[in-house]
Parts: sequence; C-alpha cells; structure tokens
Amino acid sequence: MAAQGDLLMVEERLLKILRCPLGKAKLREEKDSLVCERCGLRYPIRDGIPVMLIHEATLPAGVKEVKDLPCQKGGEKA
Ligand SMILES: [Zn+2]
Repeated sequence: MAAQGDLLMVEERLLKILRCPLGKAKLREEKDSLVCERCGLRYPIRDGIPVMLIHEATLPAGVKEVKDLPCQKGGEKA
C-alpha cells in the first residue's frame, strides 16, 4: 500500500508534462479528473492514473462532438 503523499507527488509531476492529446493544451486537476484548460474535455483519473483517451473523456457542457472542441479546431488537423 503506497502512502497517499507519494501518489500525489507523482500526480503533480505527471500534471506538468501531460497535455490535452487534441491540442496540446495544459490540463488542470479537478476532483478526480483532469480538465483541459482550452477545450474543457474532462479526462478521468483512475487509481491515481490519468486516462488520456478521448473516448474515455467527458465532453464539456454544450459540446456534442469532439470535432467541435477548440483544441480540435485550433490544433493539429485530424
Ligand atoms: Zn483540449
């Protein structure tokens, strides 16, 4: 069983290098998920490990499809 402090430290370090896979924007930690500061896509954190998969992420309110996200529009073209 790992100490909780250790887990948080790893997560903080991860947070600095992780980027939204769509537009390479920064992420912020919010409860048990990571939220893209640009497009608002919400990636779940499971057992302390961020799941950076677009099909696992939750779209922000008012956005119906991934292609409507600002990261997708302004970032690299699919
Ligand atoms: Zn994004």
